[in-house]
Amino acid sequence: MAERPKKGVPEGLWLRCPTCRATVYRKEVEARLHVCPECDHHFVVPVRNRIAQLLDSESFEEWDAELSPCDPLGFEDRIAYSKRIVDEQKKTGMKDAAVCGKGFIRGRPVVLGITDFNFMAGSMGSVVGEKLTRAAERATELRLPLIFVSGSGGGARMQEGILSLMQMAKVSAALARYDSAGGLYISILTNPTMGGVAASWALQGDIQIAEPGAMVGFAGKRTIWNTVRLELPEGFQTSEFLMKHGFVDRVIHRKDLRTEVARIVDYCHLKP
Ligand SMILES: [Zn+2]
Repeated sequence: MAERPKKGVPEGLWLRCPTCRATVYRKEVEARLHVCPECDHHFVVPVRNRIAQLLDSESFEEWDAELSPCDPLGFEDRIAYSKRIVDEQKKTGMKDAAVCGKGFIRGRPVVLGITDFNFMAGSMGSVVGEKLTRAAERATELRLPLIFVSGSGGGARMQEGILSLMQMAKVSAALARYDSAGGLYISILTNPTMGGVAASWALQGDIQIAEPGAMVGFAGKRTIWNTVRLELPEGFQTSEFLMKHGFVDRVIHRKDLRTEVARIVDYCHLKP
């Protein structure tokens, strides 16, 4: 019997791994936390699966789920932004690219915010910025560790122009206040994290974790070449390269994330 297709994920029983080119059984990939059984390539994870992977079962309490984007500029590219929003909402079942809330990691209470690449490449518009800001503010009030997981390959959302750019400053300001209050902010970089998201909250963690092989950077290789004519070294925007150069503290396999984050919380979080 045919299965109902999952929202936001390409259909089919088989997947082609973009790293090793092997054809792999989707069920097996999903059973391995969306990791390739042949080469450990870390596939993009839809936000609901990410929550299930990181948090204790049934412990997540979502905040601000009703926030939905509007189209303040009446922006149109190939299609109108207002239509794009509706299409993406239908495809993913999400209102926008971020989901935030409170939950438990191996019994430790935390505030968690996630951006999902499946919704407009995880790009940050006003709603994403507002949700992350509120999450940081509530983590400050509740004196809880804060964990953001970025799947924002789209950076700042150009369809909202300056309003999306100002989210970079807004989230950063909330994180600075959280930091002044003594909070522990763990940032988890996943593939891909680019542009205005990499240039703001995604790289402001007290502890920077990255999944193996994630692409993390500001502008892509071609843009950099076109702008400054600099040939960049092989793999210069990968987790491993960034760790070697001090931007990332640890590269952690997805299967170990929950345990390692719990361990870091135990080690670093100052109890109220
Ligand atoms: Zn593979």
